[in-house]
Amino acid sequence: MSKKILVTESTMPSLTEYIEEITDLWQSKWLTNEGVKVQKLTKQLKNYLEVDSLSLVTNGHTALELALAAFDLHGGEVITTPFTFISTTNAICRAGLTPVFADIDPETFTLDPAKVEALITPRTKAILPVHIYGNACDVEAFADLATKYNLKLIYDGAHSFGTKYFGKSLGQFGDITTYSFHATKLFNTIEGGAIVANDEQIHNRLTQLKNFGLKNGEPVEIGLNGKMNEFSAAMGLCNLRQNDAMIEQRKMRYQYYYERLQNIPGIQLNPQQNGIESNAAYFPVLFHDTFGCCRETIIDRLMKQNIFPRKYFYPLTSESPSIQNNYPIQATPIAHDYAQRVLTLPLYPNLEFEIIDQICQIIIDSGQLEANAS
Ligand SMILES: *Cc1c(COP(=O)(O)O)cnc(C)c1O
Repeated sequence: MSKKILVTESTMPSLTEYIEEITDLWQSKWLTNEGVKVQKLTKQLKNYLEVDSLSLVTNGHTALELALAAFDLHGGEVITTPFTFISTTNAICRAGLTPVFADIDPETFTLDPAKVEALITPRTKAILPVHIYGNACDVEAFADLATKYNLKLIYDGAHSFGTKYFGKSLGQFGDITTYSFHATKLFNTIEGGAIVANDEQIHNRLTQLKNFGLKNGEPVEIGLNGKMNEFSAAMGLCNLRQNDAMIEQRKMRYQYYYERLQNIPGIQLNPQQNGIESNAAYFPVLFHDTFGCCRETIIDRLMKQNIFPRKYFYPLTSESPSIQNNYPIQATPIAHDYAQRVLTLPLYPNLEFEIIDQICQIIIDSGQLEANAS
């Protein structure tokens, strides 16, 4: 096979649709600084995510840095998951805070609230869980913890665009939820992101922080430049029109994988969580010892067919050299074990069903080959 099958493929509108969307920028010559496209996309996303406030930013990482800066946490500890993209942990460290790693739930791969509670000390300032793979964290338990211990609750919602929790948008939970609209994410603005704050004052502070800390043109605090530009917002306006259709296409492929890989001994799939309408953002698979073939062999066999799955998420962020050499690391045995076993398979709206058949066959054959050999 000639075409490379990557773990994802960016969603794009037709060239005509994008050109139409950006044409008026040549008249206005207003390219950034909360222009009409950013204003329009902000309004549409508030509607889509069913939230009262939303601020568009340059990327999901900046959204996290801004979220942490919006509260005066003064060098405390932030309890978080190590089973995530390095951005989550980097944001904590770069804010001058100390990441404290708690283990994940073995079913949902999200941060385990009971493990978090055990690590809360007087130094703890915030909890930063991740809605990993578009799965929902235990938002009720985290809300209880935040109230009980008076902690800030910030969700990294980079994967959670469109996931519903008992009919509600996940953006309605916690003090802040951040989103990533990077080209590889379910919904993209090329590069981009958003911050949802469920408090007007915090929203205003974030808006100020993303614009150099300016208030009515006066620098009142030390901010950064995190403003989304008009071309990115225009891409977002186009992509949002087709987003629901794209999620439907993903769900069909997700289901197709599921039917082929469920009930295979030693294979653990992403859970279908009770009350959660998933956005089908990713298709992670865990290969346990009972499967009979390790992840690395499966990757080799897939790559020989020009198929490139990804080890989302390996290594744990707490085990990356940049973090483990600089911070005290807690043991997170489940997350550690899963990071050695997880493989995220290609999943995107136009992925051919024959490719999914091929991927599943290679996986199933790999398990049987090694079982026969031993
Ligand atoms: C992609 C991602 C980010 C960073 O988003 P960017 O838009 O790429 O800066 C943060 N956290 C998680 C979990 C992500 O997957």
